[in-house]
Amino acid sequence: MIVDYHMHLRNGREDISLDTWTVDLFVSAARAAGVDEIGFTEHIYYFTQSRSLWEVPYQVERCVHDIDPYVAAVIEARERGLPVKLGLEVDYVGERQAELAAILEPYPWDYLLGSAHWLDGLAVDSSPDGGVWVEWSVDEVWRRYFEALAELAASGHVDVLAHPDLPKIFGRRPERIEYPPLAGVALEVSTNGRYKPVGELYPDPEFLTATGLPITLASDAHVPENVGRDFDLALELARAAGYESVTVFEGRTARQEALG
Ligand SMILES: [Zn+2]
Ligand SMILES: [Zn+2]
Repeated sequence: MIVDYHMHLRNGREDISLDTWTVDLFVSAARAAGVDEIGFTEHIYYFTQSRSLWEVPYQVERCVHDIDPYVAAVIEARERGLPVKLGLEVDYVGERQAELAAILEPYPWDYLLGSAHWLDGLAVDSSPDGGVWVEWSVDEVWRRYFEALAELAASGHVDVLAHPDLPKIFGRRPERIEYPPLAGVALEVSTNGRYKPVGELYPDPEFLTATGLPITLASDAHVPENVGRDFDLALELARAAGYESVTVFEGRTARQEALG
């Protein structure tokens, strides 16, 4: 089984495109890439239902879409028997996590991705010369980032941690990385880091072996043609870390299937 559990429902220009026609484009791309099942995980901050949570201009500006057509487009494809799952990329919001979970409660998610792109309103991954990087030392950035991940995992509000060692994006790592204690979530093996300055997959294999958590596979595609991109490398990394199974989600329940 090969899953790609991280992609954004966009057209070829990366514009939000909440219709089944676009879902079908991703399904075709998945078939061509040898991916058995895909999951859509648009960012929560694009949807007006979550508007009360955002203060960072980047999120506020994007918060203009209704979530219902997104959910409907994926559900409609699922009901036609297509191998698609309904997910969402849920940003870390600190102490407002329960509020966010209440907003998401009414929808039939298959799984929720947790991600931390901002810490105290400062961006981790937008620029090496801004956000967290001008505010804190490298050690402090990683410490706070892992604290956020641990909180996300412990909240029970997400099922998978996306791009788990995101702070390596600009190649800055502490001398020794102390991985956080995590439980009750899967970690995604994401090929997207190859196209970032660091040029590597997320996470480092040591993160997987240190936690022993189950995994998903992820391209983080923003256009259909990137579905399943470089999954040969993702499989290689997973197998080298000792994995023989991948996590499949349905209605926020996880099961393991043979990898490959
Ligand atoms: Zn992300
Ligand atoms: Zn993403």
